[in-house]
Amino acid sequence: MHLLRPWRPRANILTLASALTVMMAGPALASDVFRPLSIDGSAVRWHRNAPHEITVLRYAIATNAIKRSSAVNCGHTRAPDTVIARSKLDRAAFKTAVTAAFARWQQIARLRFFEVADQDTADIVIGEQAEPTGQAFTNLALGGAPRDATRPIVHATICLNPERRWKIGFDGDLTSYDLVHTLTHEIGHAIGLDHPGARGHVMSFRYDEAHAGLTAGDVLGARTIYGAADSQASTDGSRTVVNKSAPDAANSAVGRGMSD
Ligand SMILES: [Zn+2]
Repeated sequence: MHLLRPWRPRANILTLASALTVMMAGPALASDVFRPLSIDGSAVRWHRNAPHEITVLRYAIATNAIKRSSAVNCGHTRAPDTVIARSKLDRAAFKTAVTAAFARWQQIARLRFFEVADQDTADIVIGEQAEPTGQAFTNLALGGAPRDATRPIVHATICLNPERRWKIGFDGDLTSYDLVHTLTHEIGHAIGLDHPGARGHVMSFRYDEAHAGLTAGDVLGARTIYGAADSQASTDGSRTVVNKSAPDAANSAVGRGMSD
């Protein structure tokens, strides 16, 4: 399960949390297919920064500690070495899971993600919590000013709890967490999506292994903010099989998403 903690703004750093403990009550309404993040009344999104209204973002797997005393969550994030070691994953598999999670969003919306080695040059950094809590969190740093209609996201940190058991793929065991699913969810926060409810979508806060890829609601959420990927982008041969499977997953998830 994921949860959303109350926003606690401090200067320009705001934090979005998701974790395993139940803290958000109430079932999702049937109409709750996606929910854009609204922080103190401001919509949040990354700025478009490339031709054709594409938003290009760099991401890095953390190699060094990141400390932000103003962040409520992910305030002390480090390289995900313990996640990898304790869950007996291999480093290449972890990296592949990260790539697959970004690809899910890139395939359906006008977003492009590129991995960079230097975390200091990355827009989104993925690491593990030095002080483990919950399941996973996303911390957003915003530009602009409070009460602006829209504030730009200027940095995101995603931190995984190294004391949880992580895996790659669904196996029905809800005590361990699929990295691709969890990272897809956290990246959803990192691009400006909130939880539409408890279940039914990747962006729902409950971990239930019910959706193998983005649902129609998740897709609509990302496209509402960034626009739809054009057909050329979705058939780009440089991307992986994950991309090819995503549309089917999105379509097939509609019924389940609306009926939960
Ligand atoms: Zn969440």
